[in-house]
Amino acid sequence: MRVILAQPRGFCAGVVRAIEIVERALEKFGPPVYVRHEIVHNKWVVDALKARGARFVEDLSEVPADGVTIFSAHGVSKAVENDAAARGLHVLNATCPLVSKVHTQGRHYLRNGRTMILIGHAGHPEVEGTLGQIPGPVYLVQTEDDVERLQLPAATPVAYVTQTTLSVDDTRGIIAALYRKFPDVVGPGTKDICYATQNRQTALRELSKLADVIFVVGATNSSNSNRLREIGIEAGIPTHLIASGAEIKAEWLGGADTVGITAGASAPEVMVNDAIDALRRFGPVELSQLAGQEEQIEFRVPVELLEVGNNIMISKDGGRGHSPLAKVEGR
Ligand code: SF4
Repeated sequence: MRVILAQPRGFCAGVVRAIEIVERALEKFGPPVYVRHEIVHNKWVVDALKARGARFVEDLSEVPADGVTIFSAHGVSKAVENDAAARGLHVLNATCPLVSKVHTQGRHYLRNGRTMILIGHAGHPEVEGTLGQIPGPVYLVQTEDDVERLQLPAATPVAYVTQTTLSVDDTRGIIAALYRKFPDVVGPGTKDICYATQNRQTALRELSKLADVIFVVGATNSSNSNRLREIGIEAGIPTHLIASGAEIKAEWLGGADTVGITAGASAPEVMVNDAIDALRRFGPVELSQLAGQEEQIEFRVPVELLEVGNNIMISKDGGRGHSPLAKVEGR
């Protein structure tokens, strides 16, 4: 069986930074540290951090008065920030800088008198955070039909921002619908779309030209992983979202000569290894990786955590520290 890995895949810079913030906080302040919501949407990561002393909460009322509190990579609303301040919590903000940039853009457009449209999925924590960071009415649209249903005069000056786990390709149709409905629309340039989302989707499309079946390693509540699965299916390739290799079913491999594997931005490389090991149980595996975009982007952790960093394991080992190609190429 040929197994081809997408490139890039797995951890993005925002996820590495968020996990590293938890690891450094544990080193500096000692356990427990409290993380509001899953730091990133991946059970392996959450369990690994729990084992080192992180406690995951959904509400700040669960954090004791002197608790070190970390906001997840998805970002939080102003109300949550204010709640943390009112409780006097020591907050470390692991919101991805690209998500924070969307918040800033939204506030900028609103200050300039525009009606705000957010393109994203209702209920996703990033969307809830963004809705709560822009202090004015924000209209959430998920489809082109939602745009048609907007009860706003055509002359309304509007601006849009997007959930970061939607790519340029995902949002193209909705943005076009906005331009059809409203003559005066502004929005961020395509260079502002999350690089990691776009790169992983482009790599998946390349993979779909070669693979008979594709596995996307990621969590069911991971927005970008679900989107990768949808793109594989749209390309006509059976594509399965798996949390671990144990979920791979023999019937999914029937007649497949070439298996493609990718991983969502919050899925660690150890889980990719796990999927490859699971495939080896069905027969010999010939492993290769697509030539693709090398990503060099890194985001800095908060200044107060720069003095520590001797115990960074999950963000590195969960990333490319465990490259499956190292096994076959002696790297
Ligand atoms: S997918 Fe993009 S926006 Fe989301 S955490 Fe990663 S780098 Fe940041």
